[in-house]
Amino acid sequence: MAVRNTETDLTQKSSKWLISSDGWYPYCFNCGTEPKNGVLSNFCPECGQDMRNEPADPHIFVVTVFEKCEPDEHNFANIGCTRSPCFRPTFAEAEEVVKLNMCDIWEHCYDYAVIHEIGAELYPHHHMRKFYKFNRDISGYEPIEEPECLQHIDFCGIG
Ligand SMILES: [Zn+2]
Repeated sequence: MAVRNTETDLTQKSSKWLISSDGWYPYCFNCGTEPKNGVLSNFCPECGQDMRNEPADPHIFVVTVFEKCEPDEHNFANIGCTRSPCFRPTFAEAEEVVKLNMCDIWEHCYDYAVIHEIGAELYPHHHMRKFYKFNRDISGYEPIEEPECLQHIDFCGIG
């Protein structure tokens, strides 16, 4: 029998096909039964638990840094070079990276940063975002209002 993942929190009326920690073998979280013929059925064939748990709706908070914020004659910004050094599962963790300039995400050229929240969607659009500017005196980024010339720029690298 597969090794159980005991960290998963489930109600008593439903179970879930889990993947064992020692390989790629699914099993019922409730009774440990492996699916017959590898079919992940809606109900466990052994204990009858409902396996149709709604999947989680994960959101991530992507940190993107960019060189500059210079509006052109149409009030669109020239942002220069850009990169996304990381994402974090919570906004607080993403903001910590930015405020503390962790691993020097500034790299002596990326004077602006944005944290944008995206979900598990096709062609995701940010749910929220917050902008920052680098302060050399504190070697970290500080929050700023969203510059008007950035309003039509989507910083999400996915999609
Ligand atoms: Zn079961």
